[in-house]
Amino acid sequence: MRRKLAAGNWKMNGLAAAMTQAAAIAAHDANGVDVLICPPTTLLAQMANLPMSVGGQDCHANTSGAHTGDISADQLADTGATYTLTGHSERRTDHAETDAMINAKTTAAYAANLTAVVCIGETLSERETNKTLTVIETQLAGSVPDTATAANTVIAYEPVWAIGTGKVPTNDQIAQVHAHIRARLTERFTDGADFRVLYGGSVKASNATEIFAIPDVDGALVGGASLKAADFIPIITALAAS
Ligand code: PEP
Repeated sequence: MRRKLAAGNWKMNGLAAAMTQAAAIAAHDANGVDVLICPPTTLLAQMANLPMSVGGQDCHANTSGAHTGDISADQLADTGATYTLTGHSERRTDHAETDAMINAKTTAAYAANLTAVVCIGETLSERETNKTLTVIETQLAGSVPDTATAANTVIAYEPVWAIGTGKVPTNDQIAQVHAHIRARLTERFTDGADFRVLYGGSVKASNATEIFAIPDVDGALVGGASLKAADFIPIITALAAS
């Protein structure tokens, strides 16, 4: 049985006052669903004291050194974090991260005993030119290390064109990509059937139930709708009921 995961990516949002939202999310009875918030690094140590999982949004491939402004997986773990995102499309775009770089960062996360949520997804032009499944395969093969297991890795399928846009793929499109990811995982890893695969991209309370009913969707990676407890808790509730 794969444990369901509701993960929130706060991106570069949230000052100290946002801790009240995190506390309200953590206080909610998640009914067996794993709840994860990836806040800005400034809030990580404080948030790690709450009864839910917290994670970084990225980590460096090295454990320490002259990398101004970066954070290592060990430093994330030192705050109490148990997860980190790797390969979010905003990192791939804004910081020109390649699959090889993401693979190295993910390997560093494993070394620090963090579970990596490896993000993959196609752009709109790739979708429109029927390249979605090829892109997904290439990113999975390149970004996910050979040492990945269902325990140290979660895959997040996030179509780039659905992130923060209010646009969501059809249920059939989500089902097709998740089935494809599952097939590639089971081909490559002995425990491939046990990896959790999340959908991400404009998930909100109003579409969560429908998305969580799609086969092979084990939860969601949520941006905007994870910032406020009033928006995120109904998504956790929908996942628990799915
Ligand atoms: C994300 O940033 O990972 C994301 C899915 O954002 P949103 O839910 O706002 O589309």
